[in-house]
Amino acid sequence: MQQIITFTTSKRLELIDITRQVASTVAASKVKDGLCTVFARHATAAIIINENADPGFRQDVLSLLDKLIPEGVWEHDKVDDNGAAHLKATLLGPSQVIPVKDGGLLLGTWQGITLVELDGPRMREIVVDVRP
Ligand code: ZN
Repeated sequence: MQQIITFTTSKRLELIDITRQVASTVAASKVKDGLCTVFARHATAAIIINENADPGFRQDVLSLLDKLIPEGVWEHDKVDDNGAAHLKATLLGPSQVIPVKDGGLLLGTWQGITLVELDGPRMREIVVDVRP
């Protein structure tokens, strides 16, 4: 089963917990044991899996990316002025794969699936693909 979930982001840089929406798709798929791929159809957004309870951690991820990748010094900025957003998305990657067991996501206690907006606000399409 494949489903596209849309999210409207509200900030330029933002982390959005999408675990609940992905889990709903897994439940609807009726797949008991298999794999769930979560894929962002964008060049300036990413999907990560990590701590999802502490808002401070979300800020830490954005702070780390800002420290690693400064704004306004990239060749791509000459094209559309968002080189840093593309490079941050490249580092994090557009997708994650989560095992499905007994009809649910086999995430650890402190793991959540997060959409990372790097050049918002925008409408983002996330593909959730669940297979036995
Ligand atoms: Zn661009």
